[in-house]
Amino acid sequence: MKRPLIAGNWKMNLDRKAALALAVGVADGAKEQGDVDWLVCPPSVYLDAVGRELANSPVSLGAQNAYHEANGAFTGELSMAMLTDVGCRYVILGHSERRHVLGETNEDIQRKVAAALDAGLTPIVCVGELLEERDAGRTIEVVSAQFDGSLKDLSAEEVHACVLAYEPVWAIGTGRVASPEQAQEVHSDLRKLVADRYNSGVAAAVRILYGGSVKPGNAGDLLGQTDIDGALVGGASLTAEDFLGIGRAVAS
Ligand code: PEP
Repeated sequence: MKRPLIAGNWKMNLDRKAALALAVGVADGAKEQGDVDWLVCPPSVYLDAVGRELANSPVSLGAQNAYHEANGAFTGELSMAMLTDVGCRYVILGHSERRHVLGETNEDIQRKVAAALDAGLTPIVCVGELLEERDAGRTIEVVSAQFDGSLKDLSAEEVHACVLAYEPVWAIGTGRVASPEQAQEVHSDLRKLVADRYNSGVAAAVRILYGGSVKPGNAGDLLGQTDIDGALVGGASLTAEDFLGIGRAVAS
C-alpha cells in the first residue's frame, strides 16, 4: 500500500484566527501520526500565515486554485510562482466547484496543470461525475473525458508528478458518500486509464485520492480499497479532531 495522503480543502471557510488555530491543531496532532502524509489547503489570503504555523511540522501547504499565466494584467488571479513563494507544495486543480460553479473547462485546467508542474508544484487534479451522469451509466465516460482533457499533452513523468482525485459530485458536501465498492470501481478504471494512456509503471505509482463526504467513520473502509491512496476532505477538514481522525482511521 502507498503511504496515504490526507488532504484538507478548507474552501471559502474560516477567518484568520480560526484558520491559524486549525493549522496549529492539525500540526500538533500530525506529529503523533507519522504514517500518513498531511496537507491543508486554506483560502489563499491565509496561505502565508498558515504556512508559518506549519513550519517544522509534518503538514504540507497547498492552494485551492491558481492561474496558468506567470504574471501580468490578470486582476484577482494568483500565479503558481506566488504559491511556491509562500511555501505551497500542492495546488488543487479542476475541483468540481471550479468546474461547475465557476465554469472552468478541461482546457483551463490543462493549462493550469502544466503551469503548476513547471513551477514545481504537485497538482491534485480532480475528476468526477454528476448524479445524472452516474444514473445514466456515464461515469467512466465522463471521468475519462475529464482525465484526457485535463492532462492533455503531459508526458508520463509529468502524470507521475500529479496526484489524481476522484470526487463524485453527488457525494461532495452532501453527506452521501460513495460506497467503498463504487469508489474502488472508478479508481481501478482510472488506474487502467493511466496504464492505457501512459504506462503500467506510472499507473501503479500515481496516487489516486477519493473525495466526497469522507469522515473518520467511513475513511477506514474507503481507504482500505486497493486503488484508493488517500482522501481529499472538505467539511471534515474544518476541525482538527475530525481531520486527524481520518488519518487515524486509515493508519489503524
Ligand atoms: C471536497 O470539497 O473536495 C470534498 C470532498 O468535500 P466534502 O468532504 O465536504 O464532501
